[in-house]
Amino acid sequence: MKDLFDSCQFGEFRLNSRIVRTGLWESQKEKSGNLTPEIYNRYENIAASGVGLIITEVYSLYPKDVFSKFTNTVNYTRFVREARDLTDLVHVYDVPIFAQLGFVQFNKKAEHNVKIEDLTIEDIRKIQTDFIIAAQKFDYAGFDGIQIALGNYYFLTRFINPYFNKREDKYGGNTFNRLRIVLEIIKVIKANTNLHINCRLNAFDIQKGGMTIEDTVEVAKILEKYGVDSLQITRPRSPQYFSRENYQKSLLANACNSIIENVDIPVIMGGGIKTKKQINNVLNKTKVDFISMQRPFVADPSFLIDWQMEEEGETICKTCNNCYWKKTSTCFINRAPELNINYSSE
Ligand code: SF4
Repeated sequence: MKDLFDSCQFGEFRLNSRIVRTGLWESQKEKSGNLTPEIYNRYENIAASGVGLIITEVYSLYPKDVFSKFTNTVNYTRFVREARDLTDLVHVYDVPIFAQLGFVQFNKKAEHNVKIEDLTIEDIRKIQTDFIIAAQKFDYAGFDGIQIALGNYYFLTRFINPYFNKREDKYGGNTFNRLRIVLEIIKVIKANTNLHINCRLNAFDIQKGGMTIEDTVEVAKILEKYGVDSLQITRPRSPQYFSRENYQKSLLANACNSIIENVDIPVIMGGGIKTKKQINNVLNKTKVDFISMQRPFVADPSFLIDWQMEEEGETICKTCNNCYWKKTSTCFINRAPELNINYSSE
């Protein structure tokens, strides 16, 4: 029998449990990007809770990206020193930490949100170079790994998807060509850093003509072949699908099973599970060994401490989704309101 609090192997890391904390928005940084004491406290609470692996809130590759003011940045002077303090703090608890990196729109001078088919080869080289520079900074800062955002609605998610990528050169067409931009990034990161490389992928698509579960399996196999060390599989976010959440969860578990059967690297199943019992059910009724959680850590960064004592652990998150829509790293129901920074008045 598997249990969520099993000590277990994840690639080269020994984890304290099968739970992966994943992050999304960062609302407690300073405007300049500097980390605040609240952020260090939050990470220490998460690391001390019994979590297996921490994946950070998103680091936005570009400071003027559409959601960059709600995310972390690598583009400020003291980044490496501050991030090193953060990773040192997490490592005290024997917890590895990966930096999640992505961007949504590619902007070029006056041209905003350049379409995938309009990117020049120079644009592709710029994106790749920026990823590699950010990865080098993460390595200097003591992160154990990098998570490349190929899931949800990020730019590279669309780039690898036939619904969005209509290019006719070597960066479009078949699955390998659509992945080429990512494979080239991975090759250079592997050669120049010690980072574990994780890719976050959507399990399936919400667009007709987009990626099926079979396509995602093919993508996973290619990523593994070209050096990716682990995967996180998530559901694409779309309001029209929230009402079909249970249906999606079973599709997600099926997709994870299919991927796990076809690769030899660790696969994390993403999100939406609320109780200890549900997690242990998934662990024991599927091939899934690792589960990621986001909102439960927003509602209470230390909830896993209680779960270790309780028979019936259940998150206090009400899934109201205010933290998602209002883009905060703090909870609107379970935290003091003064901890939430109000960006709407800026
Ligand atoms: S704001 Fe809502 S969804 Fe977010 S953690 Fe709190 S209760 Fe959960």
